[in-house]
Amino acid sequence: MNQRRVGVIGAGTMGAGIAHLFAERGYSPVLVDLGRPQLENGLAVVAHNLARRVRRGVIGDDEARQTLARIESSTVLAEAVAEAGLVIEAVTEQLSVKRTVFELADLHAPPEAILASNTSSISVTALGAFTSRPGSVVGMHFMNPAPVMALVEVVRGLATEDATVRAVTDLAKKLGKTPVEVSDFPGFVSNRVLMPMINEAAHALMEGVADARAVDDVMRLGMNHPLGPLALADLIGLDVCLDILEVLRTQLGEARFKPCPLLRKHVEAGWLGRKSGRGFHLYESDAR
Ligand code: NAD
Repeated sequence: MNQRRVGVIGAGTMGAGIAHLFAERGYSPVLVDLGRPQLENGLAVVAHNLARRVRRGVIGDDEARQTLARIESSTVLAEAVAEAGLVIEAVTEQLSVKRTVFELADLHAPPEAILASNTSSISVTALGAFTSRPGSVVGMHFMNPAPVMALVEVVRGLATEDATVRAVTDLAKKLGKTPVEVSDFPGFVSNRVLMPMINEAAHALMEGVADARAVDDVMRLGMNHPLGPLALADLIGLDVCLDILEVLRTQLGEARFKPCPLLRKHVEAGWLGRKSGRGFHLYESDAR
């Protein structure tokens, strides 16, 4: 097992950012997705973000090149995780999809490897129960964009061992992040608090209280939020927000988490936010 080898499963918004972060800190991440197009897209996003950092003078050309070169990519999960000390799952926010990934990773990763999930709302305890090593399964919830945001919400499942929590807490610090430990409840702290705000902003837009820009301006300028809730939803991905709200509503059984019909309609239209060029706001083609 190689402690610096990290399998990152899912090359979407979060997987690409997580691979970028680990590569920047000298680890050897291998990005895994279902096909080459998803992997190429994920790597292109990393390259784009590194180029922006070079332009801003945060890093040099050489560092950007070396960081990108450290990220391997594969469509074969079994091979990608075979030597990994850590596997981080960042696939679609659906239990059935995550189940397949955890079962495969458990089968092919070294027995001592930690299996972490970047899930926003799904039960880490349930993910652990799909494996033969629930004590080594933990939530490692990075925020978007992963290379930039300070927080890692460390989620302790019912069966997660202390050593596992300690290991990912230490790792988060090594990555320059601030870990905060929370218990395994739907949405943890971050999305249990954030998603109702985003949902309410979508209701305000739907009811014509204000247009999208005005809703965001009120929250930015009045509440000192760096991004308004609708712009933040676009950054997260409206499909991801909808999935999270569905988990919160089902698991907590409360109507207040019922997704706003306008949010659902946007997802049906394929208006997923920045990643598709249109969400509650419109984006330039290279805005991601
Ligand atoms: P995304 O839709 O951008 O990417 C998901 C990727 O997973 C896709 O590329 C898809 O092809 C891939 N995938 C699906 N099934 C797979 C499989 N079996 N094997 C390998 N790859 C597979 O989603 P995202 O926004 O990156 O979210 C990923 C996870 O991170 C979710 O659990 C989400 O809740 C969580 N998360 C998202 C954000 C955010 O702001 N978007 C923030 C924190 C956590």
